[in-house]
Parts: sequence; C-alpha cells; structure tokens
Amino acid sequence: MLNADDIETAADIIKKGGLVAIPTETVYGLAADALNGKAVSKIFKAKGRPADNPLIIHIADTSQINMLVSDFPEKARTLAKKFWPGPLTVILPKSDLVPDEVSAGLDTVAVRCPSNITARQLIKLSSPLAAPSANRSGRPSPTNAQHVFDDMNGRIDAILNGGECDVGVESTVITLADSTPRLLRPGKITVEQLRETIGEVIVDDAVINPLGADKKAASPGMKYKHYSPKANVILLKGGRELFCKYVNKQVDKNAAVLCYDEEIENITIPYISVGRSNDYDTQARKLFSSLRKADEYGFKTVYAHCPGTEGEELAIYNRIIRAAGFEVTNLEG
Ligand code: AMP
Ligand code: MG
Repeated sequence: MLNADDIETAADIIKKGGLVAIPTETVYGLAADALNGKAVSKIFKAKGRPADNPLIIHIADTSQINMLVSDFPEKARTLAKKFWPGPLTVILPKSDLVPDEVSAGLDTVAVRCPSNITARQLIKLSSPLAAPSANRSGRPSPTNAQHVFDDMNGRIDAILNGGECDVGVESTVITLADSTPRLLRPGKITVEQLRETIGEVIVDDAVINPLGADKKAASPGMKYKHYSPKANVILLKGGRELFCKYVNKQVDKNAAVLCYDEEIENITIPYISVGRSNDYDTQARKLFSSLRKADEYGFKTVYAHCPGTEGEELAIYNRIIRAAGFEVTNLEG
C-alpha cells in the first residue's frame, strides 16, 4: 500500500509494465500502461475479467486524447471542454496506437480525464493508463483502498491510497462513434446534462433493461453479472411506510436493510443507512461500500429501495438493479 505522495514509485511500476490500483473520483481503478498490450493483459488476469470487455483509458489532460483516437469530433470536444476533468467517458474510433488488449478487439476506444489529482499526476509521470474498476470481476466496485486490498491482495503490484472516492459509482459512458450519441452507462453526469450540452442523446436499452439473450451489447460490460455482493439483494418498490412495514416483518436473522436516514427510527431489523432519501450524491457514494459492508457482517439477504430512473438516480438504479438480478418486489400491489 503506497501513500498518495508516493506517486513516483507507482509511476516506476507502471513504466516497468506492472499493475497499480489508483484512486479516482469515481471508484478505484486497476491501472497499467495503456500503450503496453502485455501490461494491459495482466489487468484481465488479476480481475478475472472476460477478455471481450474493453477498458477505459485515463488521460492527464484533453490534449492526450489526440494520440488515442482517429477522430475527435465537435460534440466530443464540447463534452470534454465542459466535463473534463471529471466522471465522463467518451467512446470514439481508436487510433493504431491503442493495443487490441485495451479495446478488446473493437475499433473504438473509451477515454476519460479523471479529476482526481493523484491519478492525473501519476499519468503525467508515466503514460495514459488503462484502468477498469479495481475489483474482482462481478464484485461491487471499490471505493477505498481497503476494498481494493480485500479483492486484490497478492494479485497486483501496489495500491496508491487516496482515501475515499467522492462519487462512488463509475463514470458516465457515452459513445460518439455512431451517428447519434448514445448513453451506454449512467453516472454522476446525467443524460439530462449531456443533452443540454450536445442535444440529442439516446439512452441504450441495456442501461435500464436486462440484455435480451439474442442482443449484442453495445458496451460489452453490460452483459456480465455485475456489482454483486455475496448477499441476495431484494429491491422493494413502495413508499416509506410500506417499505418499513415490509422489512420489519422479516424474521430472518441474516437479513438487513439499506435504508434512508429518515427511516432509521422506524426500522427494527439490522440496517445500513445510505443517506437521506433525496440526497442522491450520498446514496451513490455509499452504494458499493454498503453492499460490501453487508457481506462483511455476514448478512445473506439485503433489502433496499428501488431507486427512480431520472437524473442522478439513474446511475444508482443501473447498479443496484444488476446487483438484484433485475428483480423488483412491488409493495404497492
Ligand atoms: P469498468 O472500467 O470496469 O467500469 O468498465 C468499463 C466499461 O466501459 C465497461 O462496461 C466496458 O464494456 C465499457 N467500454 C470500454 N470501452 C468500450 C468501447 N470501446 N465500446 C463500448 N464500451 C466500452
Ligand atoms: Mg467495473
């Protein structure tokens, strides 16, 4: 475990083709030199990540995108100007410099400039970094260095400890490689903000719905089971009163509930509070750590609110609906 001021040691490891887990404002990433295919392939091995799931390249400033893409169109420039550095990933046609290991054989590449200063300093000292979330494949993404350690101890060269992540869910992903911009993954930057900035943006079907067995994923990551704690996650749809009444009836000693702060006094089973009901920033920040906490305490079943699908809530919905296997129990009858 390295301290955030040990960036030079981390840069040396990257330059030698090693793996370093890095803090970003979204979640911790597992980074390798993006231009070194052999180093990048180690990421897939360490995570147990399917080889057809491409990685996001992290850059230190917008100018670094030029060597990675074959076209940097107007809409992409506008988005970069408005949202970088920050939690937005854009997908564009790739340049020949990007190894196949990064793009998983696709002719496009995903790029983002993180706002986390430690991450950007490391990129400046080493190279653009290919970095997926630093969890074992399928597990909830890590939002602090301990989560990374729990999943990756013995499998990677170092962890750069930068404290807790601010955002807590992965970046918004938009593809500009098709004729109409399309949201592939929701995040802190909402589809409403993207539309205000560049006009029409389609929301890919797989953001909200399970991918049909016959459909090809626009973003390969969307077809895999994701964000799952060991516990069984059960989503409940219904107002506060119905929600509290339903969970309080559960007699299973191994069950807990992810609840809002305002509900704590009405809940009689073990609970993990995820923030106030209208505070989506806090709910997003606490989502993955709450799921990991439930596992740590040994709960086998976790009840949670089914979030809405507008604005910032869409990012929470997209993660927790996958953790719950796309099932929702409607309490409103
Ligand atoms: P992770 O970094 O683990 O959060 O995963 C990155 C996400 O971006 C995955 O869902 C990938 O499938 C997606 N992604 C990365 N590169 C591309 C690309 N070129 N085209 C479509 N999706 C991509
Ligand atoms: Mg991931």
